[in-house]
Amino acid sequence: DISRTAERTGSRVYLIGGIVRDLFLERPNDDIDIVVEGQGIDFAGHLQADYGGTVKMHETFGTATWIHPSGLYIDVTSARLEYYDRPASLPDVELSTLSEDLYRRDFTINSMALCLNPEVFGDLVDPFNGQADLRSKTIKVLHNLSFIDDPTRILRAVRFETRFDFLMDKQTESLALNSMARMKDLSAHRIVEEMKRLFKDENPPGTIKRLFKLRFWQQFGVDDGNAEQSYIHAGQLKTFYEIHKPPAGRKARWFNYFAIPFFTSRKMHLMHQFSLTKRNHKFLQDLRSLSDIQGVEQVRQPGAFHRFLKHYDDEAIIFMIAKENMENEDVITTYLKRRVDMPVFLTGEDLIQEGMKPGPHFRGILLDLEVSVLNGEINSTDEALDWLH
Ligand code: ATP
Repeated sequence: DISRTAERTGSRVYLIGGIVRDLFLERPNDDIDIVVEGQGIDFAGHLQADYGGTVKMHETFGTATWIHPSGLYIDVTSARLEYYDRPASLPDVELSTLSEDLYRRDFTINSMALCLNPEVFGDLVDPFNGQADLRSKTIKVLHNLSFIDDPTRILRAVRFETRFDFLMDKQTESLALNSMARMKDLSAHRIVEEMKRLFKDENPPGTIKRLFKLRFWQQFGVDDGNAEQSYIHAGQLKTFYEIHKPPAGRKARWFNYFAIPFFTSRKMHLMHQFSLTKRNHKFLQDLRSLSDIQGVEQVRQPGAFHRFLKHYDDEAIIFMIAKENMENEDVITTYLKRRVDMPVFLTGEDLIQEGMKPGPHFRGILLDLEVSVLNGEINSTDEALDWLH
């Protein structure tokens, strides 16, 4: 479709960036980026006129997204140059040519474009020899100031290293080390966004270790000496998730990995330098009080855990127990699974209806009931009422 519209409108159109890299690596990628030598917004309009779907404009950036009738998202940009008037700030935008568009990108493997016009379909534009670096599994910056321009690229480099099992070349690695202090110029929000992406990839323990080597954690107050312990804890957490498949929200896992070096160095308070959500705060608070809990190793029934752990979120519980390698891990997992959809057979109202006098003792009764439900001893309101009498 894009190819035909390119021909009709006389525009040069290229597939560009991550999607080209992933095509060569034969990895799936639904983020389709195309770049038009000319006005991207106009071209998205032509695509819509030819094939339907909808167009969303992003006027300030001069870009548009064409949503294909099939639901696929295609980002359309004008070949442009983004320059940096202040390091670590968002780029300003200026129209320019394709090669300048490629030059502002992060790594050689991400700086390739494939022409989509019918007569030259599939022609590769590869000014930095990204294809050779793909073959030799190398992450290489395009110029020496790349990480100074944008320190998040260091985190991107680590992400591609671990995801593809690539390595930075020597020069890139030493630039990364030299620019790492710049990480602190970034807003907490940007760091958090990169952490989310980093720790969603397959190998969080490896990522943590690599970030120690590149002195990332050290910029934020964690010492070198915590590297090994953090790596081990991350491995235990990952194994726990894999073996027990707990119900805890997958989306929040990145934060648990991110917290490990701070936890290991007993400097959880340092995490407040990042922009945290309510849920993140609760996690940190839970960890603090969970450290004091004693006696969970002896527990053998799911319900009994409830007495210790009722008020704690799944993530914090898993974070703590994964590193203990306790024999009763299975029981804890059963507990977590059962409590997600624990039925409520009786409420305070029901107790009053049963002729009981309301008071603080209700809490104890309802907790005992929950414990029995979680143990599988009570399975209906009738059984709950029997139990009550
Ligand atoms: P993923 O598969 O994780 O989304 P990607 O490379 O496809 O990886 P995007 O972050 O969507 O991911 O980036 C698309 C392209 O934009 C990259 O391939 C790269 O060329 C360019 N790019 C993204 N971020 C930067 C950056 N900070 N500096 C320079 N170029 C960047």
